[in-house]
Amino acid sequence: MSISFIDTHSHYQDKAFDGDRYELLERIHRENGVRSVIVIGYDIPSSETAVEMAERLDFVFAAVGVHPEECNDIPENWLDEVRRLAAHEKVCAIGEIGLDYHYEGYDKKRQEIVFRRQLELAKELKKPVSVHVRDASEDSLRILSDYGQTDGVMHCFAGSAETAEQVLKLGMHISFTGVLTFKNAKKALKALERVPLDRLLTETDCPYMAPEPFRGQRCDSSMIIKMLEKIAEVKGISVEDAAKATSENAVRLFGLA
Ligand SMILES: [Zn+2]
Repeated sequence: MSISFIDTHSHYQDKAFDGDRYELLERIHRENGVRSVIVIGYDIPSSETAVEMAERLDFVFAAVGVHPEECNDIPENWLDEVRRLAAHEKVCAIGEIGLDYHYEGYDKKRQEIVFRRQLELAKELKKPVSVHVRDASEDSLRILSDYGQTDGVMHCFAGSAETAEQVLKLGMHISFTGVLTFKNAKKALKALERVPLDRLLTETDCPYMAPEPFRGQRCDSSMIIKMLEKIAEVKGISVEDAAKATSENAVRLFGLA
């Protein structure tokens, strides 16, 4: 297989992978062009597990951080814990962090504080961020712009083409999940048109968001080939070139060896 690509956002800690986690990762790395994988934490225990997985496999890297939906459920010393984990040599980013106003009962103020502390930590440690935003584009852009230019990625991008442009102005990258391949992906495809090839990344957010024709199944990084086919189509380039460009971006942004 000559095409290889990078999954910049995955959750292989998830129980969906309990039966075959390492077997699966080793197989898709060997046989399906999965060059590197970043396992992303969403609270302290899942960040810890991401680091353990990165220690075990050379092509796996970790991101550590607290997801906005977990921000009420973390120990008092959470920031020290993120800082401690981030010191590991295979931690390539702080994430996933951000804002999520999707479900009733979210705590805007608390989410903002937890997001800001982690943006500041990332700046201090000179690490990129993996940002999660759902139904909170305006507030996220306001907060991010307080920090000037930001190295990082707006993951699982679901905003408009206009929002994409604002994210790009902040110096950030954008990545799309399997959503790109869905029948109702018009908005995502419009946004994709605006993202220059040197700011685009690939990701799965697995075990969720499997692309067509696997929609509804457990997702894994090998399925990124379906996203690359879509990117190639929209950009009018070959799948090989789409894979090459997005991989180079990931290596540069996250400093992957
Ligand atoms: Zn995620």
